[in-house]
Amino acid sequence: MKKRALLWFTRDLRIQDNPMLYWAAENSFEVVALAFETYGNSIIQKEYYQRSVFEIESKFRKHKIPFYLLKGKPEQEVPRWVQDNSIDLVLTQDSFNTRDRKALSRIENKLGAQRVKTFFNQTLIDIDKIPFEIVNLPNVFTQFRKIVERSDCIGAEVSSDLSSVLGFSPKIPDGAEFLPLTTNSASEAFPFNLKAGESGSLERINEFFWQTNAVANYKDTRNGMLAKDDSSKLSVGLGLGCISARTIYHELKKFEDLNGANESTEWFIFELLWRDYFKLLASKIGDKLFSRAGISQQTKSWTSDPNSFAAWCNGETGADFIDANMIELKETGWMSNRGRQNVASYLAKTLQIDWTLGAQYFENSLIDFDTESNWGNWLYVAGVGTDPRDRVFNYKRQAEMYDPDFAYRKAWLPTNYSFKKDSSSS
Ligand code: FAD
Repeated sequence: MKKRALLWFTRDLRIQDNPMLYWAAENSFEVVALAFETYGNSIIQKEYYQRSVFEIESKFRKHKIPFYLLKGKPEQEVPRWVQDNSIDLVLTQDSFNTRDRKALSRIENKLGAQRVKTFFNQTLIDIDKIPFEIVNLPNVFTQFRKIVERSDCIGAEVSSDLSSVLGFSPKIPDGAEFLPLTTNSASEAFPFNLKAGESGSLERINEFFWQTNAVANYKDTRNGMLAKDDSSKLSVGLGLGCISARTIYHELKKFEDLNGANESTEWFIFELLWRDYFKLLASKIGDKLFSRAGISQQTKSWTSDPNSFAAWCNGETGADFIDANMIELKETGWMSNRGRQNVASYLAKTLQIDWTLGAQYFENSLIDFDTESNWGNWLYVAGVGTDPRDRVFNYKRQAEMYDPDFAYRKAWLPTNYSFKKDSSSS
């Protein structure tokens, strides 16, 4: 009898470059696949997740491999499926942050660690090839980047597809509850008309690299706040693993081979490395990623006035540049990097409100939410990370630089918006 594996999909909702699928096929396991409803808080996050799961499920269905979207907690459900189906191995993505790692450890404890095989498939670099222990990750990003550039540690893609994966019909555990694999077609609109799922991310690469060639000007446009092609928007697919950082990188290399490398294409790779940096940092600092005192364990005096916090969330602070960004986030689930830095600094440094409240709000709102990038960036902006400069963003000056003609603010502020006296436009 063939050995059986349960494929537990988390933030790796893709077929291409998926080491878990590759491994199952290479080792001739029969599989059943599960995903859980646990992702997403806002309607838009949930919709993006469900559509992405729906797409992958339909690919599995075409190959007659069972795939279920389940209600309930993985730590309760996965062991039941394993037991009822005599499953030999659970295959799943590993995690760099302690929160997800603890959930995984609970399953390893129930089943025995040897029955859970995990894959670090989120980063651009191959973590087995980095020439230092994670505890020795440099505190400064540039040092990390230079080490990566000197050593040959960018990961290769694996050639995973479903044609060589075998499915089996499972016994459904008693009381298992399924979510329908359909989506609410009424709420089509994701920000910038981005599409969910692996196909949506591949389409976006095609647009940003090949159709508009926008990546070739990325260094000049990346601070823009309004246009789709100001930046890649690939964080949306990366967040749920609909696309891998390696697939993006190798496509960029093809672009460079044909069109030549320039400062923009190089800068784009730096940004993907920032993402890796925050993942390794999360692994290095453990629970401090989520702690108010941060890496530096600073005892700053944070306030938590609920009215000021609500005004920040709702875009009602009276600071027009901040409010426009917060309204965009609330209405679409998106905010540019420039916006994120400014609103985070405004919350933590100007209002001096507990930054973890802001990070949690972002977690529940951003369509591209990624645990390590979100909490890591917040640590930095809040001044409890490893950035020795501890900068405060002057949001009025930033508005003058990045929205000189008010186009961005006009796009998002309501017509009856009431400006604060010292707001940038008064
Ligand atoms: P591009 O400019 O096209 O960059 C390409 C890719 O590089 C991005 O898709 C992303 O994967 C990576 N990248 C770029 N900038 C950063 C950065 N500063 N940190 C880590 N990776 C980066 N990014 C998330 O993906 N999820 C989050 O939850 C998230 N929360 C953030 C919270 C705060 C307070 C701040 C300041 C930044 C946060 N970022 C987060 C990082 C950054 O804002 C987004 O990655 C970026 O805006 C995504 O847009 P893009 O895909 O068009 O990026």
